[in-house]
Amino acid sequence: MSDGPLGRSATARLLDEHGVSPTKRYGQNFLIDPNTTRKIVEVSGVGPGDRVLEIGSGAGTLTRALAAVGASVLAFEIDERLRPVLAATLAGVTGVDLRFEDATVVDLHELVAGDPWVVVANLPYNVGTPLVLDLLRTAPTVERFVVMLQREAVDRLAASPGSKVYGIPSVVAGLHGTVRVAMRVPASVFYPRPTVESAVAIIERVPAAAGTEVAIALASTAFGQRRKMVRSSLSAILDDPIEALEAAGIDPTARAEDLAPADWLRLAGVSHEG
Ligand code: SAM
Repeated sequence: MSDGPLGRSATARLLDEHGVSPTKRYGQNFLIDPNTTRKIVEVSGVGPGDRVLEIGSGAGTLTRALAAVGASVLAFEIDERLRPVLAATLAGVTGVDLRFEDATVVDLHELVAGDPWVVVANLPYNVGTPLVLDLLRTAPTVERFVVMLQREAVDRLAASPGSKVYGIPSVVAGLHGTVRVAMRVPASVFYPRPTVESAVAIIERVPAAAGTEVAIALASTAFGQRRKMVRSSLSAILDDPIEALEAAGIDPTARAEDLAPADWLRLAGVSHEG
């Protein structure tokens, strides 16, 4: 096998040789465009000695490309059928610790404690956003996320107040980091081809301000009833929502989608949950 990222025919041949047909259950859309794989590694800024967490190794094309730039890669893959495929792709590759486990049940934040990490992954669409939000909240050592998700999910992470797709993912991402859309990725670079476009988001972590978890709890309650004004959606958890909102300089007649992450944080600072 050549050293570079896997293309369409090499991926299809490998999967075929090992009798693996990609399954939707695990969000298996494998990257088959070497240029896209290289570009993701390039925009990740990862280099020699960096610790990288990859969730969903698949056929190993991104894993291999990350190892090729000298990163130490801790990679998770849930699908045991990919064991022989990954053994072939990663034969002779050093710096990869591959674990066949479900990344949603492993204590990832414990594994990445102590040292700085970067998450670089083409995430399975069904668990991608929750994984990112969870790591943002629980794993402060992850300094940067370079994650491919469905385009709509990336737009949600990067959305600003007032946007139709602004919601809890945008608030959590905005409280913990700065988000930018690094690349739009067409469906044609995957096997099998998904029905929607993808995109790569880069989230650079910023230190969390005091009150961040309270801010997220307030926003979650309000977004649970996003059509209501915040003075009424927050009445379930605030003793006096109008007083708290006014003290935070927020119009009580606003709706959840109008409030920026900084507004939720100010409200957390003045509020006493009931
Ligand atoms: N990184 C590969 C690539 O770019 O071609 C594969 C990406 S594919 C979109 C997502 C991968 O995540 C699949 O190989 C799938 O089996 C794996 N996966 C899905 N759910 C997982 C989980 N909970 N834990 C670990 N891996 C998972």
